Amino acid sequence: MQDLIRQLLADLGEDPSREGLLNTPKRVEKALKFLTSGYDANLDDIVNGALFTVDYNEMVIVKDIDFYSMCEHHLLPFFGKCHVAYIPSTKVIGLSKIPRIVDVFSRRLQVQERLTNQVADTIRDIVRPLGVAVVVEATHLCMSMRGVEKQNSFAVTSAMAGVFRDQARTRMEFLELIKLRSGVSSVRESASTSLACMAED
Ligand SMILES: [Zn+2]
Repeated sequence: MQDLIRQLLADLGEDPSREGLLNTPKRVEKALKFLTSGYDANLDDIVNGALFTVDYNEMVIVKDIDFYSMCEHHLLPFFGKCHVAYIPSTKVIGLSKIPRIVDVFSRRLQVQERLTNQVADTIRDIVRPLGVAVVVEATHLCMSMRGVEKQNSFAVTSAMAGVFRDQARTRMEFLELIKLRSGVSSVRESASTSLACMAED
C-alpha cells in the first residue's frame, strides 16, 4: 500500500521524497488500516455473551454515539452521531456493546444508509427485540469540503423495525427523546432519501 500512496503523491504533483512526505505513505497506510478495521471485527467476539435475560419491556436508548466513517464514493470522512433504541422481548445487551457495534460498521467504506441499516439489523439479529430504531445524523466532508452543499448541512437516515415501525406513538417517543438537530419531522422524510453525495461526481 505504501508504494501506491507514494505514486498517488507523485500523481498529485508532489515530490514524495521531500522531508515532510517521507513517512507519509507509512502513516497513511496505518491510518487507513485503522479506519477500515471494521472489516476484520468479529461481532461474536464483541458481544462476547453480554446478553442478559430480563423482565423489562421499556425502551432502551443509547444516544449521541459519536462515529467516524469513510464515504465509499469519495474516500472522504463522514461523521456524526448515531442513536439506537430497542424494546426488549426477553433479552437485553450490555449497553457498552452498542457503540462497539456502531464502530464495527462505521470503520469501513460506507454509505450512511447502509451503516444505519447494518446497525439496526445487527441489534435485531442479536437481541431479537420487539422493535429496533436507529437514526444517524452526519456531516459529509465530500459535500462540505467540495462546496456541494452548505458547510453545515448534514444528512439524516433512519431504520425502524417492529414496534417502532408499527406504532407511531413508540416512534415519536424515541424521536422526541433523541431530539435531533434537524427536528423530529424531517426524520420521516429522510427515511427513504438517498444520499446527496452519490449524485455528485
Ligand atoms: Zn461522498
